[in-house]
Amino acid sequence: MTRGAGGWTNGLAAALPAPGWRTRFAPAPTGWLHLGHLVNAVHVWGIARAYGGRVLLRLEDHDGGRCRPEYTAGVLDDLDWLGLAPDDAPTASFRAATAVGAPHDARQSDQGPRYAAALDALAAHGLVYACRCSRRDIAVVAPHQAGDEPRYPGLCRDAAVSFEETFARRIRLDDTTITFEDLRLGAHRQQPASQCGDLLARDRHGFWTYQFAVTVDDLHHGIDVVIRGEDLLASTGRQWQLAALLGRAEPPRVLHHGLLVHADGSKLSKARHDTGLRDLRAAGATPGELLGEAAARAGLIPQVRPLPVDALADLFAP
Ligand SMILES: [Zn+2]
Repeated sequence: MTRGAGGWTNGLAAALPAPGWRTRFAPAPTGWLHLGHLVNAVHVWGIARAYGGRVLLRLEDHDGGRCRPEYTAGVLDDLDWLGLAPDDAPTASFRAATAVGAPHDARQSDQGPRYAAALDALAAHGLVYACRCSRRDIAVVAPHQAGDEPRYPGLCRDAAVSFEETFARRIRLDDTTITFEDLRLGAHRQQPASQCGDLLARDRHGFWTYQFAVTVDDLHHGIDVVIRGEDLLASTGRQWQLAALLGRAEPPRVLHHGLLVHADGSKLSKARHDTGLRDLRAAGATPGELLGEAAARAGLIPQVRPLPVDALADLFAP
């Protein structure tokens, strides 16, 4: 059988850990799920089912300014409807915790104490400082081309900003070069200190950042393999560097898959509703049709056809 995946799946058996390894599906409930999420889910569940992995569901609602409870409920409902069952932290466990107002181990908005403890551990090594900069302050000092990420220029690094003045905290990164072998894209070298500069762990509003929360949680949850879209490739080096500072001996393996694009080639965004699962469901699509649509748009099958959830493993099997 010929796959559109380009042959990279042939190397998975040798590159993945022994059966029993753990990966995660980790959406941020800042909107409704769309086909882009489903492309990720097809990779996560398909590879896990084909190679003896376990899927943890983690709700990355660390950004309290953008996440909403109805979006979280929507994620759980869509996963159930699709038949994508997490092995760890199943959807019912989140509903049960919510019903009684209890924290959930895999819901980031509940993990303030976990993140604070990690930050304290880094602070004990002199790696944390308060930062009073706004985005505008940083943009003025370190202007960047459109598409390039802004690098924090270290304005507060040696300014001894009081911890009482702001919630914002940064982690000192030295100029370590991180090398890794992506399971699909091959060898990469990244130097976080020159890409993003000292890492923001918590913002001015007191919200933990994606980079910090994810790295702490991947360590806490024992995530062995991270499967996510290419738009997060640049995050790998900084997450590995931070994980090492947090005491992680061996970083997770990483696999970055291609991103879903619209027919006109533009990147999928939540602002466009034509690929939202809610709307597609309302229009009468079946779970198998949507899984097939996602697999085809990801180049895993040559043409759109209904794909039962049980068939996802076949897309990646040796
Ligand atoms: Zn600053």
